[in-house]
Amino acid sequence: MGQGITATGESGLADATSDPGCIFCLIISGKIPSTVVRETERTFAFRDIAPQAPTHVLVIPKTHAYPNAAALGAGDPELAAELLREAGEVAAAEGLTGDGYRIVFNTGDHAGQTVYHVHLHLLGGEPLGRFGTPA
Ligand code: 5GP
Ligand code: ZN
Repeated sequence: MGQGITATGESGLADATSDPGCIFCLIISGKIPSTVVRETERTFAFRDIAPQAPTHVLVIPKTHAYPNAAALGAGDPELAAELLREAGEVAAAEGLTGDGYRIVFNTGDHAGQTVYHVHLHLLGGEPLGRFGTPA
């Protein structure tokens, strides 16, 4: 992945970095279609193409600047908080607040991270199995 360029496209955010080789940047720009759940000035939420639970939504910042949650938290804690707030809004809209849900940030190879544009998985809709089992 490159250093990123300044996005001037449909994200409407002049200061958001974008990487033309990043699948999530292409989804934000609309070049790759997705089922959008929620969008704010700096965040984007859409359904995972391979859902691991009845509700599986990815919540991402529009900027490509941060590869994982730790980098986001260190670089822009306010944006990290926005991501968590958006997860809560999506959970409420999906009717998950009462029964509960899981938020996951996969980080690096051992966690199975495949897209290095920070993203939060919001999972719910049925009792979820335990996690952390070796592959
Ligand atoms: P990771 O494994 O990096 O934590 O999560 C990446 C997620 O992106 C996976 O759950 C995968 O199913 C999802 N994903 C990959 N490509 C696409 C796509 O083109 N559209 C959507 N909606 N989700 C995708
Ligand atoms: Zn990206």
